[in-house]
Amino acid sequence: MTAPVTVAIDGPSGSGKSTISRRLAAAEGLAYLDTGAMYRAATWWCRRRGVELTDAAAVAAATEVMPLDMGVDPGDPTITCDGVDITAAIRLSEISSVVSAVATNLDVRAQLRERQRAIIAAERRPGGHSGGRGIVAEGRDITTVVAPDADVRILLTADEAARLARRARELHGTVDDRAIAATRDEVVGRDAQDSTVSTFLTAADGVVTIDSSALDIDQTLAVVRRVVAQARQEEQ
Ligand code: C5P
Repeated sequence: MTAPVTVAIDGPSGSGKSTISRRLAAAEGLAYLDTGAMYRAATWWCRRRGVELTDAAAVAAATEVMPLDMGVDPGDPTITCDGVDITAAIRLSEISSVVSAVATNLDVRAQLRERQRAIIAAERRPGGHSGGRGIVAEGRDITTVVAPDADVRILLTADEAARLARRARELHGTVDDRAIAATRDEVVGRDAQDSTVSTFLTAADGVVTIDSSALDIDQTLAVVRRVVAQARQEEQ
């Protein structure tokens, strides 16, 4: 049995990191943690409680008591908050358009970082979903802040045109000019706001950059799996 592994993957919106991280976890028998979903869940929770997102102290206080259950099965990463399945609700544009307000709250970041570290640590022990095999955690600050000691650290990038086209197809089902324009604000605007609190557009020391602009999902997954296999080999 190989030692448990932690794979950290960061990248901007539309880089393909969620799809790749989930598929990587499924293929390698690892748990999967979508940290972006935790910021989305905190946003959903604040709205449900009627907390103004501009009231930083109230947002931090609400997040502290958020009864969040993060599913880590890559085949079914169900997210439940206060007994409600919010897996689909947190993807709606009413959440995407305001999530950065919560994610730039430094108290919220400190709290969610500790929750994320606890989930990652649990998957390195036999009782976790992966049976102690490890986890793929993805987000904006996993390689740098949450798990800088991860066994494998990857920054998944793609040029702006590729990222816009992918998100437009996902959100609007097409890549015509109108769909691209509608997507631009969400993708570019959100990354600009997010980059005020995390560095995810350039790789930190020791982080492997993979540019997926010209690669499809299978090709990107193959590159990522080679990086993971190499790191595991070097460990032995
Ligand atoms: O990856 P996703 O688009 O679901 O992330 C939603 C939001 O959560 C991002 O726009 C960002 O504001 C925030 N986020 C973050 N740090 C992470 C993951 C996500 O600030 N590690």
